[in-house]
Amino acid sequence: MATFQGKSVLVLGGSRGIGAAIVRRFVADGATVTFTYAASREAAEQLASETGSTAIMTDSADRNAVIALVRESGPLDVLVVNAGIGVFGDPLEQDPDAIDRLFQINIHAPYHASVEAARRMPKGGRIIVIGSVNGERIPMAGLASYALSKSAMQGLARGLARDFGPRGITVNVVQPGPIDTDATPADGPMQELLYGFMAIKRYGRPEEVAGMVAWLAGPEADFVTGAMHTIDGAFSA
Ligand code: NDP
Repeated sequence: MATFQGKSVLVLGGSRGIGAAIVRRFVADGATVTFTYAASREAAEQLASETGSTAIMTDSADRNAVIALVRESGPLDVLVVNAGIGVFGDPLEQDPDAIDRLFQINIHAPYHASVEAARRMPKGGRIIVIGSVNGERIPMAGLASYALSKSAMQGLARGLARDFGPRGITVNVVQPGPIDTDATPADGPMQELLYGFMAIKRYGRPEEVAGMVAWLAGPEADFVTGAMHTIDGAFSA
């Protein structure tokens, strides 16, 4: 499998969960992969040494650091923005600083990283953002700030697809439903509630999301842009 031989891939937020599966998939397919992390240094270093990828500490809440990293990464063939956080609960009780940090990581960083990457991305370049099924459907309370941030990715993809399409760069969003990671463990307390919304009653695997990302990054998806790609066991159906 050398689909991405000679290709340069940057994954924002690659130390754990879905991001780590994306790093592994691109390495397996022959790419040169760099990924960022913020808190999980040990996991990042282990993944880097296991896979031969490069880990760089860059907090996605720091806009200028994200822009500088993308600029210094050289011309990228693929940018994947995976880093994302949730702040869940009653909006009347939430700390506005925590909500603003969520917007910085989930909205500002994807936008600025995408624009910076596009400056030097060659024809055939790919920008892929990990959104969420909650950008489509919010069947419970306490999710507003997270859902808002993931809906914003839909506007980002639609808009930037128009801006960068003429240069042969595609922009897409992958929208996972419940995926078994540290953030939403399959054996966690939400399982029964979430299964109630789904036709396939199991959590998705990070590798399944990575497979969709790899397809979007590959040559078969050259005509696919400005679109949302949902992988959710029919959570949003
Ligand atoms: P995890 O919490 O398991 O992992 C998050 C990853 O993002 C880690 O590698 C983490 O690195 C990194 N990250 C978080 N904050 C920052 C930051 N400020 N700067 C740089 N990196 C950061 O999450 P998942 O793997 O579950 O989720 C990944 C993405 O998928 C997110 O955007 C999430 O919203 C989305 N998603 C997940 C779903 C799920 O069910 N799991 C469903 C729908 C969408 P570190 O630990 O080093 O900070």
